[in-house]
Amino acid sequence: MSTQTPLDQARTQLAQVAAVLRDKYVGEEARFDTAIELLSTPQMLHQGELEVQMDNGSTKKFKAFRSQHNNARGPFKGGIRFHHGVTKEEVMALSIWMTWKCAVTGIPYGGGKGGVVVNPKELSTKELERLSRAYVRFLGEAVGPWTDIPAPDVNTNGQIMAWMVDEWQKLAQEKTSLLQVNPLATFTGKPLALGGSEGRDEATGLGGVYVLEELAKALNWQRKQDITIAIQGFGNVGYWFAHHADLRGYKIVAVSDSQGGIYVENGLNPEKTLACKKQNGKISECPCTDEKCDITLGKKVTNAELLELNVDVLVPAALENVITAENAPQIKAKVVIEMANGPVNPEGEAILLQKGILVVPDVLANAGGVSTSYFEWVQNLAGVSWDKPTVLEKLQPLMVMAFKDIWELAQEKNLSLRMATYSRAVKRVIDAMLLRGSV
Ligand code: NAD
Repeated sequence: MSTQTPLDQARTQLAQVAAVLRDKYVGEEARFDTAIELLSTPQMLHQGELEVQMDNGSTKKFKAFRSQHNNARGPFKGGIRFHHGVTKEEVMALSIWMTWKCAVTGIPYGGGKGGVVVNPKELSTKELERLSRAYVRFLGEAVGPWTDIPAPDVNTNGQIMAWMVDEWQKLAQEKTSLLQVNPLATFTGKPLALGGSEGRDEATGLGGVYVLEELAKALNWQRKQDITIAIQGFGNVGYWFAHHADLRGYKIVAVSDSQGGIYVENGLNPEKTLACKKQNGKISECPCTDEKCDITLGKKVTNAELLELNVDVLVPAALENVITAENAPQIKAKVVIEMANGPVNPEGEAILLQKGILVVPDVLANAGGVSTSYFEWVQNLAGVSWDKPTVLEKLQPLMVMAFKDIWELAQEKNLSLRMATYSRAVKRVIDAMLLRGSV
């Protein structure tokens, strides 16, 4: 475990970046220092209690938060999580990282994050709907198409966004001042039938594969069929990463879910693996090549073993804090692409870097998701609906340019990819604050 809370981590990173950036602001040092000070805390933290009627007629209270970190570059943007472990500090830290994630790809948003302390599995569908609507009433005018645009996160989904957008529209009709633009543009990650975007499902995984492709070019890796990849987590992000990497000829040798994984030396077939998991429930029973699924084609691995496999690329796509000082010395991959949020903790990363292992940070590697949310918002505001190829054609240059820019900066300044990413992102935000004259 990291010795720091996520908020401490976000602040330490900001202080490190400030040390790198300060000499770019000659004559403006005082304003720069003020900007850094402001960026260490969200501009606004909404906190309160949601009163929700349970099916048995009783009322239950749930703690709720929305952290709005910075909107110098555009409206706040970030998910809402429903989880019993949500804390104010966690939501604040996640909103800080969202600011950097939006800035690094250049999409015109700032960072936000929301959360409710709840175990949604303990609620009925009706209770979940009432909770979702109560959360929107709690935020009211604090969210909106030009102010703050939430999206799904842990344990929230398209249905929850649909309830939320519906509630926000009702609220907007009560306060006509809110009804100046399409209310659907207030939330992203909506179902397709209610203003969602084609391509959103696969965007995070695919965005990560665009990064992989650029990395392979930068490292002069010639033969894709020889590049081996292990992926921890085979949910939305892990599956789509595997699907698009496989399509492009990379060799996926291991995947896992919460119950363990499989290793197939000659490369596995993501489609067959997914179909087999759906049938058997466990990925560890599913070693599938292009021909068939057969228990003799591969071997079972634990999640801990998967991380330590001798592969070229390791893709943690499940949870935070899975690579730490304890297992980092045993990691053999040449590159770690952080598709989950925060899978490598600071102590773990220091060891990986010492060993010469490249780490592509989450705010760059998994930015394909929020970028496609941005495309959803643009479509809602314009009242249009793009087909999937149109959406994906827009995603590719965005991810490629962001990666190339960070790669070049890291080479030029001899920075880790994480420090290069944060310094590019923080600079963009500070420049916007200076231009506005807000510092
Ligand atoms: P998901 O729920 O669809 O999939 C999670 C996967 O991780 C599942 O296969 C699950 O079995 C597996 N898993 C759970 N516990 C595990 C454990 N202890 N060990 C190994 N595997 C375990 O979630 P997702 O949407 O794919 O998100 C995965 C990560 O990516 C999260 O960190 C999320 O915050 C991040 N992320 C997701 C998106 C997105 O668009 N979905 C965007 C940015 C970041």
